[in-house]
Amino acid sequence: MPTCGKCEGQGIYEVVKTAAAFRTTLPQQLQHAGKVPVRVRVSRRARRMALKIDAVGDAVELVLPPRTPLPRALNFLKSNRDWVERRLAALPPRTTFADGERVPVLGVPHRIRHVARSSEHGPVWIEAGEIRVSGDKAHIARRLRDFLKERARQEVGRRARRLALQLGRTVARVTVRDTTTRWGSCSANGNMAFSWRLVMAPEAVLHYVVAHEVAHLIEMNHGPRFWKLVDKLVPQVERQRAWLNDNRAWLLRIG
Ligand SMILES: [Zn+2]
Repeated sequence: MPTCGKCEGQGIYEVVKTAAAFRTTLPQQLQHAGKVPVRVRVSRRARRMALKIDAVGDAVELVLPPRTPLPRALNFLKSNRDWVERRLAALPPRTTFADGERVPVLGVPHRIRHVARSSEHGPVWIEAGEIRVSGDKAHIARRLRDFLKERARQEVGRRARRLALQLGRTVARVTVRDTTTRWGSCSANGNMAFSWRLVMAPEAVLHYVVAHEVAHLIEMNHGPRFWKLVDKLVPQVERQRAWLNDNRAWLLRIG
């Protein structure tokens, strides 16, 4: 199923296979190079070696073109060690889904408050600028995550249908997932998927990502005609893209 290749993401390479040859050798060789977890990925599409910071796992991914010799890969890792350490140290602090923490909903910070069960509400609701979570304290994180996912599904679903209508198209199925390489995707048969984390971004940013995928209903590419279409649907596209770029790690490190 074709999807738009690189929607606002970092995942520009396709996984070919896990690098079995590197799996056993690398950990030993890296002993003296610090304890940053390294994942090796051999990519048919990679033209040169690359390092990618994994903001979710506080790790680094080493992307290699096919048949890269091991010594070259190790040298590359070693020579970029300072860069990797600086980038990992510069990652934004994590925000956990716990009582007292602040979590944005459509870009507006809300304090999480653990409360007694309420007969009027479900297990999670928003009231007076707070996200109130009832029930066992041990389940706050899961309940809040479920709540935000459902909210995300509603927000992206209704926007997708409305924007598609403006273009005279229809959306097939809209799902939300916990993706790390793309904020959204659109398949040739009109199915769309979005990261549930978009519900924490400012409303205009979420709206832009939906418009981006809706525009793929007509243009399954990122050419000039595609961007013209996105511009027609939403204002200040560059600003929203910049926000996503600047805040990607922060969004991925919440919850
Ligand atoms: Zn796209």
